[in-house]
Amino acid sequence: MGRIVDLTHPIEPHWRPSWLNERKVHATFDKGSWHASIVTLSCHGFTHVDAPLHRFPDGKTLDQVPLETFIGTAYIVDLAEVGVNTPITAEMVAARGGHIRPGGIVVLKTLWDQKASHKTKEFWTTAPFLTQPAAEWILGQRPKAVAFDFPPAFCFRYPHLEPEERARHTDRYAPHETFLPHGISTIEYVCNLGKLTRNTVQFFALSPNVVGVEGFPARVIAIEE
Ligand SMILES: [Zn+2]
Repeated sequence: MGRIVDLTHPIEPHWRPSWLNERKVHATFDKGSWHASIVTLSCHGFTHVDAPLHRFPDGKTLDQVPLETFIGTAYIVDLAEVGVNTPITAEMVAARGGHIRPGGIVVLKTLWDQKASHKTKEFWTTAPFLTQPAAEWILGQRPKAVAFDFPPAFCFRYPHLEPEERARHTDRYAPHETFLPHGISTIEYVCNLGKLTRNTVQFFALSPNVVGVEGFPARVIAIEE
């Protein structure tokens, strides 16, 4: 086996309370023979996969998305020089995505997890974001999934912005509205992409098979040969 790189944020208490809503131990060794816990999570917290139902009422649920969508060759698009509040343009992804082949997984690497901790609001309020033309360029490469190490939609910061600042931007849900209708799943908040040494890797984003949900936290890894 090649070198395994974990691209997954640990699941631990978070300032967004829904992300790890509850964690309790309901059986302990001082009272019995087992240690057992209950954990309540947001389906969209930490490193996770999205299914089309997340944005479209008739979209597939996670259990209806073929497993092949989340496993395969991934093409790392190096956008590490992208700074804070920077729109990622079609020209940028085209310049760095020449190695993408149809049917793969596109991974946009900004190293945002190194520049802002997801434990801070700045992770959302100052992040780079994907523009509609960039999303459409990626769509044209016919990927089966697209992964991000930053909050890809500008609107994710809206709860933290003044109205006039919101009005300056129109690329609202560019990633979800562009990819999910085509059965292309989105994989959000991967991390550690700086540990990869190749621009093409084997990629696995596997979540529990929770029936009927529109996404779920996943363990995402890359394997470099
Ligand atoms: Zn999500």
